[in-house]
Amino acid sequence: MSSTPQQAELLSLEHARAQDAADPLRRFREQFEFPQDHAGNPLLYFAGNSLGLQPKTTRGLIEQELDDWARLAVEGHFDAVRPWYSYHELFRESGPRLVGANVGEVVMMNSLTVNLHLMMMSFYRPTDSRFKVLMEYPAFPSDLYAIQSHLHARGINPAEAIVTVRPAEDAHTIETAQIEEILQREGDSIALVLFGGVNYFTGQVLDMAAITELGHRNGCVVGFDLAHAAGNIPMELHDWNVDFAAWCTYKYLNSGPGAVAGCFVHEKHARNVELPRFAGWWGNDPDTRFRMQLEASFAAKADVDGWQISNPPILSLAPVKASLDLFDEATIPALRAKSVKLTGYMRELLEQWTDGTFTIITPNVERQCGCQLSLLVHEDAKQRLDALREAGIVCDFRQPNVIRIAPTPMYNSFEDVRQFVRSFTGRTD
Ligand SMILES: *Cc1c(COP(=O)(O)O)cnc(C)c1O
Repeated sequence: MSSTPQQAELLSLEHARAQDAADPLRRFREQFEFPQDHAGNPLLYFAGNSLGLQPKTTRGLIEQELDDWARLAVEGHFDAVRPWYSYHELFRESGPRLVGANVGEVVMMNSLTVNLHLMMMSFYRPTDSRFKVLMEYPAFPSDLYAIQSHLHARGINPAEAIVTVRPAEDAHTIETAQIEEILQREGDSIALVLFGGVNYFTGQVLDMAAITELGHRNGCVVGFDLAHAAGNIPMELHDWNVDFAAWCTYKYLNSGPGAVAGCFVHEKHARNVELPRFAGWWGNDPDTRFRMQLEASFAAKADVDGWQISNPPILSLAPVKASLDLFDEATIPALRAKSVKLTGYMRELLEQWTDGTFTIITPNVERQCGCQLSLLVHEDAKQRLDALREAGIVCDFRQPNVIRIAPTPMYNSFEDVRQFVRSFTGRTD
């Protein structure tokens, strides 16, 4: 198929470079360490949805904590450059900014699945008539295991209690109307609605505001796993009235393998110190935390901090600080504006240069698409992936035949995107 002059211009290297030159966020790319091949050439990195790159400031922040520990030992709790006693409070404002929450609704603690467990402990309150959990298919396995184990622990049969929303036979993604239909039919028996805000497999962004509304209308508690949403799309968790949410920080949030995760509890619940929870001393009101044996019963802090259990791992929180400083500088709205262009450009090139061997299953609707495109490869998916690796491109693969590509607005360029599409489609123009 021959292209028009306008198409040829869109596909040209000059166009990609002009887009990069006009990108107000382009300076952030230099703030990250890119992995290299054996010859020391930087790889093209599109796996930020799996493990984000290391900010160059991270090492210094960790070293600061090592130095303070060496220099001050126990006194570092109060005398460190960033005192450990209150280190989690460094995120009181930057944490909420990520997800559209109020101060006191977000804390960085534990890891994602652990936070889901803690949230289900407080917010999954089954009764004889209302005990089901509504979730999506496919859900991330860890979320499913967490839910199954809660059901088992409470003597409920997961086969009876888990209700899933699946893509229709001729579709790859789910519709809000399907969720509405299930809630209308059996909402009375559903205790908890728990979805990934962005599906890890398809990259579909769900309408979290509508789902929350529908869930509440049917008397359900509504929570979200934001592993693929945090640092990717703008959210308004407080205004949407979401009950709780949890997310990891090592994907789009670039905080390193296994980094400390985020947790949101809406303030209407967070203020309720009577809510059942698994408690520990770090969730206690700091004013009485150190009364220790003098204060024999737990007094929850009256915000989301009241869900903390242990004193936080400072060496794993330091990278979160490095990352959120960059997010505060770049800002979510600016990142989203670039992301819409960057992912849109990737889609456009893939569509122009398609060789018919793949289908983009991520919805082609702006509000349903974040950074990630999921490419369903019709044949030899594994070989396609190997060829990409050979060409110095890092992306990821989900069985049986989906290649996930995540051009992140923080550090990917339009030229990166063009180079990926050329490699993937075998174009040489
Ligand atoms: C990445 C991811 C996880 C990982 O859980 P961890 O507890 O951080 O290991 C869980 N759920 C979803 C949806 C994810 O994308």
